[in-house]
Amino acid sequence: MTRYRVGIDIGGTKVELGLLTGDGRILQSNVIPTPSLTEGTDAFVKSICGAFHTLLTQSGVVPSQIEGFGVGVPGTADWKKGIVRYCPNLFGAVQLPMADMFERQLGIRPFIMQDSWAAAYAEYEFGRKKQTPNMLCVTVGTGIGCGVILNGQVFGGALGTAGELGHVPIVFEGRPCSCGRRGCLERYVSGTAIFTQAMERFPEKLRGLPPKTESVFTLAYAGERDALALIAECVDKLAYGLSLAIDLLAVDTVVISGGVSAHKALLIDPLEEKIRTYAYPPWAKSDRLQVLQAALGSEAPMVGAAFLTEDQIC
Ligand SMILES: [Zn+2]
Repeated sequence: MTRYRVGIDIGGTKVELGLLTGDGRILQSNVIPTPSLTEGTDAFVKSICGAFHTLLTQSGVVPSQIEGFGVGVPGTADWKKGIVRYCPNLFGAVQLPMADMFERQLGIRPFIMQDSWAAAYAEYEFGRKKQTPNMLCVTVGTGIGCGVILNGQVFGGALGTAGELGHVPIVFEGRPCSCGRRGCLERYVSGTAIFTQAMERFPEKLRGLPPKTESVFTLAYAGERDALALIAECVDKLAYGLSLAIDLLAVDTVVISGGVSAHKALLIDPLEEKIRTYAYPPWAKSDRLQVLQAALGSEAPMVGAAFLTEDQIC
């Protein structure tokens, strides 16, 4: 009997589900809008389970053929117990026994993990050939997610919260953050932050363009000075934040994922150059430090969710 894996990536606006082969090939993937939480978390999980059944039915697969099943969430999860602990954009600070809830509905227990860990693991396992066993995978989107791979395993830390690069303060007493502190990296460099700062600095230039981060890049490609300056400033701050992590962990590879990673000339290349100016000299001067564009794109958390297991976390 052929065996398959299922990965689910729960995001703030959409949920992505995928059926994969044992070697990481996506056979079928579906996207549904993130279910409403107004009727409670049981109804929320039930909706996603409905989509799980649809995914299997479409492919003619039965639950007994599933040998691996994981769910990524945009927040902190206690992966040992299968509990979601802190998910500011969805559930808030909770103790949600998500693995139990899925198991009750489906008869299969999923492995629950932070989405950025899943993305990092997927990029490490199935991404570019140049990847090494010591890397950071940084997703620049609504916020900044970061998964840390050390010696080929996802590093979780004592509390299972490792990788919160987005909430490393880089400006003392800086902009207020949703985490309750100030000056966090993601208040300056996430997709959301880039757009917010553009609206503060040059709203008139964004008039008539779609209200999203991509429009700031559109202006930059057209040579608009304010947009170019803002992006350069963001690259600078991201490089600074990354250099702190590189100094501490001595990783030699940084993978950038998320929408803005498509901009190689405006973001990826200058980022690598800037990191070399900020990082600890032996690393900065070595030619081993590389900044790569993610290979899997927005599917990385879903793919990683299907494959990451307890054995691969340290
Ligand atoms: Zn923060």
